[in-house]
Amino acid sequence: MSDSEDNDNEFQDEEIENGHISSSLSPTQYVNASSTDEDEEELAGDFNIDLPTSHKYLGKLNDLGGYTLFEDGEVLTLLGIFTNTWVLPGFTLPLILENPHESSVMQHFLQKRKVFVLLCENALNSQEYFDYGVTMEAVETSIKDGILSLKARGRQRCQVVPKSEIKHLTERLQKVTVKILPEYKVTSPLNDTQLYNLKQKRPYLCEDYGDMKNIRKYRKYHAAQYTYPSWLYEEYEVCYYVKHILEGLKKCFEMEFVPKDPLTLSYWFVQNYLLQYTERLELFKQRTVIARLRLEMQYLRNNRLIICHNCTQLIGEQQHVIVLSKDGIQNNYVNPGGNVYETITLSEAKNFMLIGRPSKQFSWFPGYAWTIMQCKHCKLHLGWMFTSSTLSPGVFYGLARSCVLVANAPNTPNCTSPEL
Ligand SMILES: [Zn+2]
Repeated sequence: MSDSEDNDNEFQDEEIENGHISSSLSPTQYVNASSTDEDEEELAGDFNIDLPTSHKYLGKLNDLGGYTLFEDGEVLTLLGIFTNTWVLPGFTLPLILENPHESSVMQHFLQKRKVFVLLCENALNSQEYFDYGVTMEAVETSIKDGILSLKARGRQRCQVVPKSEIKHLTERLQKVTVKILPEYKVTSPLNDTQLYNLKQKRPYLCEDYGDMKNIRKYRKYHAAQYTYPSWLYEEYEVCYYVKHILEGLKKCFEMEFVPKDPLTLSYWFVQNYLLQYTERLELFKQRTVIARLRLEMQYLRNNRLIICHNCTQLIGEQQHVIVLSKDGIQNNYVNPGGNVYETITLSEAKNFMLIGRPSKQFSWFPGYAWTIMQCKHCKLHLGWMFTSSTLSPGVFYGLARSCVLVANAPNTPNCTSPEL
């Protein structure tokens, strides 16, 4: 771990921001925009996983309050921001807009409405943007020297209205017209087909698949009137998928952090399981929770590997992912240059080399120092090694999602080539 003097020296030669080099941010701005090592309080013991989601490295932000939900199907023209990352409803996105024009455009829109749309790259075809996005509500902001820092929370899925005009305001910001997508409540395929007075005596619906055996005989009686066998209806119950996904996740996650509610679980899975980019887009397009969970159950069958984006060297494995944030293993963090990195945390990594000295400047994990990781074979930037002499774990790795690819392990079914 280096001290602040070392860090000051580092920034005289090049402007490194948690692993990346900025062409636009001066070292003076950098120091102003970030906390210094002296500001860090000494932390010890088990790392508090609440800390990363607070994004304390952004400095003091002002709470805006409020919770904005639009009507299902409502069509709105909102400010859209294009980033190379993903955020689903319920998850947090930190942003720094250090470009003065971009910052003033965003501020102008936020004064009128705190909600904007997160757009993402479309890897499925050559269109510029993916048709689907998420409404984001700015919950905390601050402006310092013209630099806008903000934290936003994902609220609702939305779809860019086909053939609507997209007005470009800056490279990343545009005005888009979107339609709010409903989250349909999924009901049992046998729902509302039983006489009311029998429902009281012979319940055949349950929220936990573990209770299914107690009501199976009633379901059998009831389904006897239909063409299909009763077991088939079980496979269309949302609790069936929840059970299988929770069982599958046990092999690589501590279950206390995994939500049990079907809708939250379906989003949590996208944010946390190692998925290929195209798989995420597919999941995002699904119109119901059950369709999303069904696809997730299929993806869960494959063990995943993390490989270098450039030379496909193995860097990490699914079983080594660790949860160091209450939002899960894949979270978004922003550096002072405004680059957002979705970062996967792992307890073990291989085929990398370290560059430079450890630094605590602008650390996304309070109490930890970061050191840049590069691919041992092709020198591509991979992410950062985080170290602490007082916290547990003492070391872990944060891989930048944009620098690595997810591939299926060779011994798993439906083995395919790495993602696009
Ligand atoms: Zn490589």
